[in-house]
Amino acid sequence: MSAAPDADHAGVSLADREGLVGCARRMAADDLAPGTSGNLSVRRGGLIAITPSGLPYERMGPADICLVRTSDAALVSGPRPSTETPMHLALYQASHAAAIVHTHSPFVIALSTVLDELPAVHYAMADLGGPVRVAPYARFGTTQLAASAAAALAGRSAVILRNHGALTCGPTLERAYERARTLEWLARVYWYAQLAGTPQTLNESALTEVSDAIRALRYGEVVPPSEETPPPSGAAPPPSEETPPPSEAAPPPGS
Ligand SMILES: [Zn+2]
Repeated sequence: MSAAPDADHAGVSLADREGLVGCARRMAADDLAPGTSGNLSVRRGGLIAITPSGLPYERMGPADICLVRTSDAALVSGPRPSTETPMHLALYQASHAAAIVHTHSPFVIALSTVLDELPAVHYAMADLGGPVRVAPYARFGTTQLAASAAAALAGRSAVILRNHGALTCGPTLERAYERARTLEWLARVYWYAQLAGTPQTLNESALTEVSDAIRALRYGEVVPPSEETPPPSGAAPPPSEETPPPSEAAPPPGS
């Protein structure tokens, strides 16, 4: 049922595989994930395509990307998928995201040990849906970590994992990756601000105003519901988000 020349399983294309490998290789250079840590995925129909477990990024190729079924987490093709596959699946279940990036970036991790929430020290936080919550610590790869990460993601496109790292979501892999960089940058800004004094932060209405202004600047584009809005409880993830929307995420509910 391939619709495109390079499509293989249910819409996972060679371009998807190459995109995952390319972003995985960028993570070390961008100081988002040292060694083989971190992982990335995209959702296409009833499958996710995710980076494999324990394979150095410089040796990873498109054929090493694993396909996992969202309904039962069964491996459809590829080597051993990331140990954090349960967490990716939980976040897809809880959101309309089409891509997820999991990082071990240093400033985010440092702050995860002392904060319950990363405050909005810059208006760029609007792109993440507001102050980013820190999910309680649980061992990597566990369903407990997956559940707490999904809960802490509510209304956001990012979540921080205590003593561990972070995840960012988006309608495309590129947007999820940029959000991972934005989150690390925001953590660094907050770190520096704390050293200098007590940071002034932006409230929810200020962030909503930013989201509205961005939307106005993109006037004329179709603005679908946020890809981060969870589907109605019990409903399967909608198929519409496989086509990346061009819009910004919808802002959180007004104050
Ligand atoms: Zn991790």
